[in-house]
Amino acid sequence: MSFGPSLSHPASPDGPPPQFTAVCEICGRAPAIDVTFRSMITIVIGVQVSTISGRYCRDCGLAHYRAQTKSALLGGWWGLPAVVLPLLLIMNVVGAKKIERLAPATSVPASALRPGAQYSPPLVPGTPVSRSPALIVPLLMLALVIGCCCGLPRLYN
Ligand SMILES: [Zn+2]
Repeated sequence: MSFGPSLSHPASPDGPPPQFTAVCEICGRAPAIDVTFRSMITIVIGVQVSTISGRYCRDCGLAHYRAQTKSALLGGWWGLPAVVLPLLLIMNVVGAKKIERLAPATSVPASALRPGAQYSPPLVPGTPVSRSPALIVPLLMLALVIGCCCGLPRLYN
């Protein structure tokens, strides 16, 4: 079995066993890549950005992507800093596309894992963002903006 570029050094008959560098830091499976997902909550002029960054397999990475993006969709629209929310969402989608290109994760030999590291079962990816109730918030905000721009002036004329 070959792990391709995830091998940090080639196996040699009298050298140390091969070390796998691209192992998910949550579940210890491979392949995995380095990705970053962000979320933000805005209130009036305040903003709180949450960043999750690490080396994740497909399942764990998708779980982080979906959780961070849903959180941003729910909490990112309530203040002026919301102007950067579309950029944040695009950055998350770019990271998700990288994760989705990974092959399904499989276990690696115990010798390939970091000594002493504790691994958990893989995260559950959960519902796709496109089917999440969190999408209701931006749709309501869009309807509100359209309503304010087109509908409300007629009420007062
Ligand atoms: Zn994982």
